[in-house]
Amino acid sequence: MSGFNLAALPGNPGIRRQLAARASLSHAYILSGPPGSGKHDLALILAQAMVCTAPGGGRPCLQCAGCRKAAGGIHPDVVRIAPPEGKRDIVVDQIRALRTDAYIKPNEAGRKVYLIEDAPAMNPSAQNALLKVLEEGPPYAAFLLLADNAGMLLPTIRSRCETLALAPPEEAAPAYSEAADRLARLLLEGEERELLEHCAALEALAREELAGLLDSTAAALGARLKTDLSEAPRALAACDLLKKLRDAAGFYVGNGHLCGWLAAAMAVPGPEGLGVP
Ligand SMILES: [Zn+2]
Repeated sequence: MSGFNLAALPGNPGIRRQLAARASLSHAYILSGPPGSGKHDLALILAQAMVCTAPGGGRPCLQCAGCRKAAGGIHPDVVRIAPPEGKRDIVVDQIRALRTDAYIKPNEAGRKVYLIEDAPAMNPSAQNALLKVLEEGPPYAAFLLLADNAGMLLPTIRSRCETLALAPPEEAAPAYSEAADRLARLLLEGEERELLEHCAALEALAREELAGLLDSTAAALGARLKTDLSEAPRALAACDLLKKLRDAAGFYVGNGHLCGWLAAAMAVPGPEGLGVP
């Protein structure tokens, strides 16, 4: 799909190609992949793309009211279905309610999106009820079925959906920017002079750029942790520090302050050096 914005999805070149090859989004997807593979992230991206109200391409725009409401879980046309509290199964009554709801036109968006968490939790009668809506539902209705293993769904359901198979999390590891990689390395090694110079340079960044860098540095540290546990105590402390700085960045603390904190906290080697003053 041209102009489809998959920036928020790490890795997964296969899914990128699969979606890029389409002129428009399908009405039913199975999002399959092991825990941690990003099913919920991809479901949100697709749901946002379906309810995005930005003109032109580049959906989801992540800026419009539709995108923001979907991200906040408060879009009236994005409906989540999960097993009832304390239960394991999604039962047929829930899917019947979905079916009735599907015939009520969308409130705000062009489409109405049903996001079925843990789709294999639908018992067979629920899956059969869903099959009818997949086949005969109104054209604006769209279905996102999340599954750790798509093979747990009835073949009739699978044949009516397009499957997007997510890579396991270790394969989906994104490449981080040079700046994030460098800051991650400095945070781990804590070479004081280089870090001070680096932090001084960071002060020139715009607030959003600095916030983005803090986020991607935390993600880069997390990715390093998966391959090298010897750095774990300091890396975890560094992630914690980045999170605090990131929160502070949201409260209009100046860049100079944030970078000063970062430099001061990093000047002491070992995990104990990483507290926010
Ligand atoms: Zn949008």
